[in-house]
This record gives sequence, C-alpha cells and structure tokens, in this order.
Amino acid sequence: MSFQKIFLFDFDGVIVDGIKEYWHSSLLACEKYLNSPYIYVDQKLYKRAPNLFKEIRPSVKYGWEMILIVHEIIKTENPLKNNNKDDFINNYHQNCQRLLNENSWIAGDLQKILDKSRNYQIDKDFKSWVNLHNPFFEIVNFMKELSKRGIKTGVITTKGKIFTEKILKQLNIFPEFTFGYESGTKIKIAEKLSQTYEILGFIEDRKKTLIDIKQNPETSHIPCFLADWGYLKESDRFNLSHEIKLLKLDRIKDLVAI
Ligand SMILES: [Mg+2]
Repeated sequence: MSFQKIFLFDFDGVIVDGIKEYWHSSLLACEKYLNSPYIYVDQKLYKRAPNLFKEIRPSVKYGWEMILIVHEIIKTENPLKNNNKDDFINNYHQNCQRLLNENSWIAGDLQKILDKSRNYQIDKDFKSWVNLHNPFFEIVNFMKELSKRGIKTGVITTKGKIFTEKILKQLNIFPEFTFGYESGTKIKIAEKLSQTYEILGFIEDRKKTLIDIKQNPETSHIPCFLADWGYLKESDRFNLSHEIKLLKLDRIKDLVAI
C-alpha cells in the first residue's frame, strides 16, 4: 500500500510572521479583558511591537504566554526591561508558571481572552486584523507548488485553528487539514498522521519541537527542517543534531525536488 505524500508546516514563524498580530491581540486582551490593576494601556503602545517582545518570542510555546509577557512589559511598576530580560528568558518556563501563580491566572483562561481579542478584531475590522500578518511568500508559493505536484500540505500550529484557517484562506492556501492548539501536542498529531501519510518533511521554527519529534520512535523517521527565517534563538543555529536540517528561505525550492 502506498501512502499519500504530505508536507507539514508550522504556521507562525514559518508561513507568516505574526509578531505584530500577537503584540496587538495580546495588548488588546490585556486592556479589555484581563482586569489587571497593575497596567495602564497607553494607545501609543499599539503602534509597534517593542524589540523586547520580539526578543522573547523565540522562547514562547503557547499563545497564552504572550499575554503574560505583554503584561510584564507594560506593568506600571517593575516592568520587564532590557536589563532584567536575560533572567526572564533564562528561566522562561518557571517565570511563566510563577506569573500565573502570582496573579492567580489559569493558562486556559488567558488563551480564551486572547481568542476573544482576535474575535473582537475580526468582527470589527477583518482586513486590519489580516494585515497584521506578514506572509513569507516563498513558503506560500512552495505550498502551492506542492499541491500542483499532487503532494498534500498540512498545518500544525499552537494558534487557534479557526484563526489560522482565516489567514490561510486569505493567502489562497487550502491545506488538507489544519490542527490548532485544540488538537493536542504536535508530537501526538505527527504520530497519528504518520500512520496514514508518508510525511516528506516538517518545517518548524521551534527547535525543541523538532528534537521531540526526532526522539520519539514513532516519528523519528520524519525529515525535520528548522526554519531559519522564523523566531529562532541565536543558539538554535548551533549544535544542531545532524538529523535536523537548518533550512534557509532562499533554498526552499530545493525541497520540491523531493
Ligand atoms: Mg512557529
């Protein structure tokens, strides 16, 4: 039996640069839904995502963490700044847990208000929300090329499925499926998919996710590519196991030859 060939893609940092959208949506969630006494949201903050936020982005795994980060950055007292950023990044996961505890927040609730903030923008001005995403057109074209060649594409993301699909539709990309955070961990999804598809590759910008895929016996055969154009820590590019290939955006076309 021959399996249908498929290529898998992460979404944020691979198909689109969504940093502006994450900043905007998280800030709006802080302003409208978080009810925190520790912040004041100056409207000027919406103009651009600060570098500090961009520098922390490579550590983020789930969308709700963005709300914690934005809240830390805009706090009126003892905000997160350049001088204490390294401490925050070096113990990133412990810090996220600490902040949840200190504020008596639950991760799932933060995810809900992030989604609520997106829905609010979509209802109010869909076009403006879409425009906060900057597509990587090399990837968009690559996905279209694959589909011309009869190779399916699939998207696995930690963003909500419905929001991802709205953006993909704007880009005229219609993958075989999109899995969002609602569908469980990427590794479990890949495990399941490998039972029904021949997976030609998985392009992702979170190195730890690719390492987990390679270390799991059920998924270790999947060719893994680390997206050089995504949200990488500088150190991610070094000491890369030979099983995970660093992929440059201008070399993406080479993969069509697979
Ligand atoms: Mg990503």
